[in-house]
Amino acid sequence: MEQIKIVIAGPRGRMGKEALELIHNTEHFTLVGAVDRVNGGKLISDIEGLPPLEAPIFEDIEACFQEVQPDVLLDLTTPEIGRRHTRIALDYGIRPVVGTTGFTAQDLDELQGLAQQKQLGAIIAPNFAIGAVLMMKFSQMAAKYFQDVEIIELHHNQKLDAPSGTGIKTAEMIAEVREQKKQGHPDEKEHIIGARGADFEGIRLHSVRLPGLIAHQEVLFGGDGQTLTIRHDSYNRASFMSGVKLAIDTVMKIDLLVYGLENIME
Ligand code: NAP
Repeated sequence: MEQIKIVIAGPRGRMGKEALELIHNTEHFTLVGAVDRVNGGKLISDIEGLPPLEAPIFEDIEACFQEVQPDVLLDLTTPEIGRRHTRIALDYGIRPVVGTTGFTAQDLDELQGLAQQKQLGAIIAPNFAIGAVLMMKFSQMAAKYFQDVEIIELHHNQKLDAPSGTGIKTAEMIAEVREQKKQGHPDEKEHIIGARGADFEGIRLHSVRLPGLIAHQEVLFGGDGQTLTIRHDSYNRASFMSGVKLAIDTVMKIDLLVYGLENIME
């Protein structure tokens, strides 16, 4: 199998560390560099707790791309940094695989245009867990039969964006098939602002943030005399890695930007 040369951004992060293990354990993946805001000039193997990969660390992404010429950028950082990195990768002809969440519809439009102009593959996936993607698909199926739905997403308390990318994506997928409806009593009033959650085309989205949690979501449907609950739990970050691997392999074979892992799962 042909080697895929990868640069990772955010190697010391929780997702980054797990992705380094994936790269280390995948025969046809080679880590050629890393982008970190500290540790420039060191190797990944110099950093305690990271796998013994002899890849150089750069503090500047452009210097990194000029020096090591990877096939793929794997970005696991923050929305502001991830959006900048993705743009620069496409400019340099490098295929981005982005797990960073919090991109806006405007970001996606802009990046889609850039990928098209460059005829380059790019994958942005707010959730790399295969089970979470199935939860979204099953929710979309159920929404054809149940108009009333509320989404509760639960994450660790270090998460920066709310609602989660998965929560928004689920609401979007449900809205595609669900008959438009404003839920709850027409005269309902919030005595404390936010009590009924965020409103996405009439679908209510609630964000829970607690230490101890990783990434979880419940989609609750209500109908006459029945409810249906679809739930997915990620108990650790290893749950995301089969999706990351699939995305890295797939991005080499496409020439456009794909948003969402569900669009590359067969
Ligand atoms: P994390 O542990 O906070 O790691 C974030 C990494 O980004 C850290 O290494 C951090 O370095 C780096 N970073 C922050 N600001 C930076 C800057 N200005 N320049 C360069 N690097 C910078 O977060 P995480 O849990 O790994 O999550 C990372 C991203 O993936 C988040 O957007 C999260 O929502 C997303 N996520 C996606 C999935 C998925 O399936 N798609 C699953 C889980 C999480 P410092 O230590 O220096 O701050």
